[in-house]
Amino acid sequence: MEKIYMALLFLMIVPMLICIKYARKIKSDVASSIVKCLIFAIVTILSNGLFVVSQSITFSYFMQALYLFSFDMLFIYVLQYAQQYTQVFNEVSPFRTGCFLVAYLDGLQLVLNVFFHNVFTLKTVHYMGLQMYQVDTETAFYYVHYAFVYCLMFCIIASFTIKIIHIPYFYRKKYFPILVVTCVIVIINFMCSALQFPIDMSLPFLVCAAILICYLTLYRSPSELIDKTLSIVVTEMNNAVICFDINDECVYANERALNIFRTASSSESMLSEYVHGWMKEHDIADRDSFEWSEQKNIDNETYYFDIEYRKLFDKKNEYIGFFLNLIDNTEKHSAFEKERYLATHDSLTGLYNKNYFSVKAAEILKANPDEEWLLLSSNIKDFKLINDLLGLEKGNEVLKMEADLLKEQCGKGIVYGRTGGDKFAVCIPKARFSEQKFMNAVRTMGQAFNNDLYHLHIYIGVYEITDRNEDISVMCDKANLAIKTLNENYDKSIAYYNDTILNNTIEEKQLVGDFDNALAEKQFCMYLQPQTTSEGKVLGAEALVRWQHPKRGLIFPGDFIEVFEKTGLIYRLDKFVWELAVQKLAEWQKNGRDDLYISVNISTKDFYYMDVYKTITNLVEKYEIIPSTLKLEITETALMTGTADEFERIERFRKYGFQVEIDDFGSGYSSFNTLKDMDVDVLKIDMGFLRTTKPERVEKSMSIINTIIALTRTLGLSVVTEGVETKEQVDKLTQMGCGVYQGYYFSKPIPVSQFEETYM
Ligand code: C2E
Ligand code: CA
Ligand code: CA
Repeated sequence: MEKIYMALLFLMIVPMLICIKYARKIKSDVASSIVKCLIFAIVTILSNGLFVVSQSITFSYFMQALYLFSFDMLFIYVLQYAQQYTQVFNEVSPFRTGCFLVAYLDGLQLVLNVFFHNVFTLKTVHYMGLQMYQVDTETAFYYVHYAFVYCLMFCIIASFTIKIIHIPYFYRKKYFPILVVTCVIVIINFMCSALQFPIDMSLPFLVCAAILICYLTLYRSPSELIDKTLSIVVTEMNNAVICFDINDECVYANERALNIFRTASSSESMLSEYVHGWMKEHDIADRDSFEWSEQKNIDNETYYFDIEYRKLFDKKNEYIGFFLNLIDNTEKHSAFEKERYLATHDSLTGLYNKNYFSVKAAEILKANPDEEWLLLSSNIKDFKLINDLLGLEKGNEVLKMEADLLKEQCGKGIVYGRTGGDKFAVCIPKARFSEQKFMNAVRTMGQAFNNDLYHLHIYIGVYEITDRNEDISVMCDKANLAIKTLNENYDKSIAYYNDTILNNTIEEKQLVGDFDNALAEKQFCMYLQPQTTSEGKVLGAEALVRWQHPKRGLIFPGDFIEVFEKTGLIYRLDKFVWELAVQKLAEWQKNGRDDLYISVNISTKDFYYMDVYKTITNLVEKYEIIPSTLKLEITETALMTGTADEFERIERFRKYGFQVEIDDFGSGYSSFNTLKDMDVDVLKIDMGFLRTTKPERVEKSMSIINTIIALTRTLGLSVVTEGVETKEQVDKLTQMGCGVYQGYYFSKPIPVSQFEETYM
């Protein structure tokens, strides 16, 4: 019987030891409290067991004392565990210290009891044929011990109860079993001690409690929580998850997966068919994992998926199935597409932007090496004027119109785009380009837009692609260079690029590069062309610049003025020439020739870059010349776009004493308008147009000049006729009433020294 009892004891202790082994692996406060509980539980069980089988009364006293003391300790640690696990009564350290103090005092009493029986006495009893000891009489200390233990038990039960009341249902399973076992232990223990039964029948429940505590506290709940979380995530997530078993049968597919593969017929079969198709297509059966992208139409919408395939293995590394994870990238994909569209297309017209046009044009050239290709570029005349005069809205409308025209004219196999501002470009096979058709379309568009304020005029530059390896942007530049040769012309709209154009451009660039040096080395010089009466008496001269270039010889202004105007260098040149003229006037005036004047040219661009008034008056003051001997020639075009501001400027010059002349009068188209608004002193009539028009038109032109001369008389202005080459012209103009002449008939522009020798 004793042996059976000892075997039972042993059976109870083994699970406790196993629990200790597992709990010690976990490093946490709760785990370490559990380990302490388990140790004292073992001591409790052992001491009670030995008490039961002991035949010596002293040993029995000793074991009962140990049993009662370890019970104290056990419940102190269970309480500590309960507090940590339920977090209901956060540990109060004075309370804890107090508990230990009571337990130690109790222990001391119990040890003393072995000798003085101050807590309890034992008596011999017989149960089931066994002689054992049983508590006989109890003192107040004995009751204090039990009161203390039940207090602890009460606290433990209270913390679990409070926790269970406050926690969601899902978590109650974590606490409820422990509460139940604790209650059972308390009840049985109470009954045993009340009946003074030597064997503590609650001890087997202590073992149950130990196992439950370890399992619920340390193992069970996290994994369940994780399972729950995962299952929710997988069921409801945007990814489609499909799981297949070892026979390639679908065993699980979440909602999303079913939706994706759902058709009017059956959902499951479609899904398996698809997956088996993919497996064959990507040959994935032999791989452990694989990733690819797939596009699929669902309800007429295209979806983009990144698909991940992964084989599953068990603990022994044996194949048990596989799963597919379909990540829906449709949104990302469309965002990417949108971004790509924005990066490659012009937002206003929807055409390719400059960079993408280059890419696409290069592609098409490469793909069609046997065909001949053209690169066209377009430019709208005075586009800025549309924006300024009619507003940005109208400007955008024009650009959209042109884009529509391109879409209409260019079919498949032609690349076109907006390469910037008002510039468009087209890369087209030579065989498909018809100048006639294209220009007609451009003209029709122009007519559709024209209004009183603005006439739409589009220039086209054509570059025949000879070197396909050239950068597309260089090809565009070449087409644009061709446009520049049109020189803002109104009657010609298309120009073809040739190498001369490039050479001219290079030459222009060289001139610009040489400018600084030329100015510093005084390579620019002033020529004078006399202005005379009809009899040839010299009244003054026009200052005309020449460039004595060290390599290229004498260069005429026609070759460089425009370039310097474009590049903003002109003001420095003009300032230089004005100074030469003023210096010469000062010299003449010192020598008593204050009857001669010099006319200097003022470029429109000069007004952009400097204070012309200040510059010129400074020169006059520096060299102390008579202001009326310096005449200022301003071209008609400069005044045409003039604002009230500019008219005022002219007025200031006149007030200072300068004579202001309108140069090239009659070559622009609002000459008479200008006269209405502005007071000037001299009109210079340009005879250039006599030479360019057909002979039968000469009569007509002469009558226009006649009218102009008559008009100047009415307005009280003087007239200078420029470009007279024959006596006949002089005679005719004299009859008309012109007084002053400048032209080859009298003299070409000549160096100053020659002028002085001849005329002074
Ligand atoms: P412009 O001011 O109209 O100057 C008159 C041009 O007509 C001069 O050409 C002159 O040589 C030319 N000319 C004069 N009489 C006759 C003639 O009977 N027959 C022909 N065929 N031509 C005649 P040039 O000197 O080559 O100057 C060309 C243009 O360059 C000038 O036209 C003027 O606009 C500009 N220019 C010249 N010097 C300067 C300057 O110092 N500053 C600025 N801003 N422009 C200048
Ligand atoms: Ca002039
Ligand atoms: Ca002129």
